[in-house]
Amino acid sequence: MTFPWPTTPPTAAQRAAFAGATVRPYWLDALPAREREPPLEGPAEADLCIVGAGFTGLWASLHAKAEDPARDVVVLEADTVGIGASGRNGGFALGSLTHGIENGLARFAAEMPALERLGRENFAGFVADVERLGIDCELELTGDVGVALEPHELAWVEETAELLERHGHEHEVFDREAIQAEVASPTYLGGVWDKTDAALVHPGKLVVGLADAARAVGVRIHERTPATRIVDDPTGVRVLVPAGHVRARSVLLATSAYPPLLRAIRRYVAPVYDYALMTEPLSPAQRESIGWKRRQGLGDMANQFHYYRLTSDDRILWGGYDAVYRYGGPVRPELDDDEASFAKLSQHFFATFPQLEGVRFSHRWGGAIDTCSRFSVFFGTAHGGHVAYAVGYTGLGVVSTRFGARVGLDLLDGRETEATRLRYVRSKPVPFPPEPLRSGVIQLTRNRLDAADRNAGRRGLWLRTLDRLGLGFDS
Ligand SMILES: Cc1cc2nc3c(=O)[nH]c(=O)nc-3n(C[C@H](O)[C@H](O)[C@H](O)COP(=O)(O)OP(=O)(O)OC[C@H]3O[C@@H](n4cnc5c(N)ncnc54)[C@H](O)[C@@H]3O)c2cc1C
Repeated sequence: MTFPWPTTPPTAAQRAAFAGATVRPYWLDALPAREREPPLEGPAEADLCIVGAGFTGLWASLHAKAEDPARDVVVLEADTVGIGASGRNGGFALGSLTHGIENGLARFAAEMPALERLGRENFAGFVADVERLGIDCELELTGDVGVALEPHELAWVEETAELLERHGHEHEVFDREAIQAEVASPTYLGGVWDKTDAALVHPGKLVVGLADAARAVGVRIHERTPATRIVDDPTGVRVLVPAGHVRARSVLLATSAYPPLLRAIRRYVAPVYDYALMTEPLSPAQRESIGWKRRQGLGDMANQFHYYRLTSDDRILWGGYDAVYRYGGPVRPELDDDEASFAKLSQHFFATFPQLEGVRFSHRWGGAIDTCSRFSVFFGTAHGGHVAYAVGYTGLGVVSTRFGARVGLDLLDGRETEATRLRYVRSKPVPFPPEPLRSGVIQLTRNRLDAADRNAGRRGLWLRTLDRLGLGFDS
């Protein structure tokens, strides 16, 4: 067996490396202080009310205004702009709408040519909009490298390269020598670099930039304004908040992994926590010691994988591996801290880059992912078509939220498009069972994925059954 990670407990030094870290997403901490938008008090009216000021909600507000500048758009945010997944992700900006080609082929084979094309158009639109709106979010068109750490993953490198080739992605395969020349880690055996529609961003700057752009075209944003209920109204619906309400013809729910306002969403979404560490800026010697001159986003290829990348000031973000589901699916600020996950992350970081011994982590944080069983956004409507939702991105929403927002609005406006005709948009994921079965099934699946990683990737009966049923668990 060649399992790449230490099987001994993390050392005192590995724990000390993150002990002094600030428990807050680095991306939000690095932003200049800004004034908060006032909470909504009293009654308000709007043509469109959006619940949630993450990427989905803010893109939706911008699309709506671009279409009709006179449309009156209000965004309600329970806390602050970007406090959800949008301000705490890895910043991997990937074009795929299907959580990768392989997952797309497994679930939407017939629609993949259209989904790949729509994903490409959306990625190009994302890059163009960031430029047009003047959002300085440190966009770097670096591509994305999958690294193989175990011999059986070398076959996956070949399979991935073949899929990329077939779908017209520019790519490059690295053997052991080439990948280690690219990025200096003794754990690497090979890799594949996808150069098409794959970039990095500073997600904090992106989400705040989108909010600024929305405000500039007249969108009203209310922070510290949780929507508590939606009730029918003669001309549409009313969204209730603690000190008032918004009466609107249309409402888009962009609430991701948070407790949903519609029961329907709860059936399909399981909030799964993912954790990340950010190092202090590397010294020139440390930076030199890892190579990584072309600054690609990196991820290892196992079921339980790490994702990591450089920032503009040469820190390393190191996240993933554990995907923690807790009974009942709570999403709460105190869950941002998880000693056991950080200890494992730190241990794996120093196993990957032993030359960085002594480096400290300045930030540590967690975030809830809106996991669904098909790993890609899904849509629905309620309240007689006055309410729509776009949730379920399952850890790949930095770019696809722009598309999800577009489709969500089209569904609200009753507009038929190429996208709204797709089964991808019309169908729902297979629901998760309710508790207590839900946590049992998820823990068992996680346990079996871990076992597969420790057994040369071989999937046991449980995972093969889920595969046959088109079900899965990922982050
Ligand atoms: C740790 C982590 C790493 C990730 N890494 C990547 C990555 O590298 N690349 C990638 O593509 N994707 C990544 N993702 C996923 C990506 O961040 C999300 O798919 C995306 O940000 C979802 O955006 P959203 O607007 O739908 O949700 P969110 O950003 O979560 O926004 C939802 C908002 O709704 C608000 N809200 C919820 N309920 C209410 C209510 N009742 N009333 C008012 N407001 C409410 C919340 O406060 C929140 O601000 C990652 C996610 C996490 C957690």
